[in-house]
Amino acid sequence: MYPKSLQQLIDSFKYLPGIGDKTAERMAFALMDMDEERINTFANSILTVKESIHRCPICNGLTDLDKCSICTDKSRSNDTLFVVEEPKSVFLFEKLGIFNGKYHVLNGLISPLDGINPEDIELDKLLDRIKKEKYKELILAFKPSIEGETTSRYIKRILEDTDLTITKIANGVPMGVDMEYIDAMTLERALLDRKDVE
Ligand SMILES: [Zn+2]
Repeated sequence: MYPKSLQQLIDSFKYLPGIGDKTAERMAFALMDMDEERINTFANSILTVKESIHRCPICNGLTDLDKCSICTDKSRSNDTLFVVEEPKSVFLFEKLGIFNGKYHVLNGLISPLDGINPEDIELDKLLDRIKKEKYKELILAFKPSIEGETTSRYIKRILEDTDLTITKIANGVPMGVDMEYIDAMTLERALLDRKDVE
């Protein structure tokens, strides 16, 4: 019943997480009310984000530069490497502003049942980096899950013969909950109360 182009816009919004019919309609109408300049910026940012954002060759995090701004920031400590499972976790922890080391993003977590093995999550890249950059501590911040545990234990095992301290963020983070839904205080406490990986 909507004109075709409007229906197309509504359908496009529905691809986004948590957006149902009603919200999609509201968004489409709001967009039509925007002035020309704002709508151009909006449309352009959608078109360019995909082409300008890529993985940082050092940490695997998202950036629109050659190397990300965290990897090239000389004021950040090189003692601690914070290992996460997804690029968005970097932004989440950066927002808290309590960590001043470097990050490394894995390509997911080990999950033998799903056929995801250590080589699939690019652990080699992490190990190369540890060898080169001489960290003292590795903090593992995976969401609490069997996959997170498996990955933590695997990393601990392959680094057993090194002097590296390997810790993981505390269990204040509830099982099965996505990191982005955890409030800043819980996350901060989980980081401060970190413990050794067994
Ligand atoms: Zn980087």
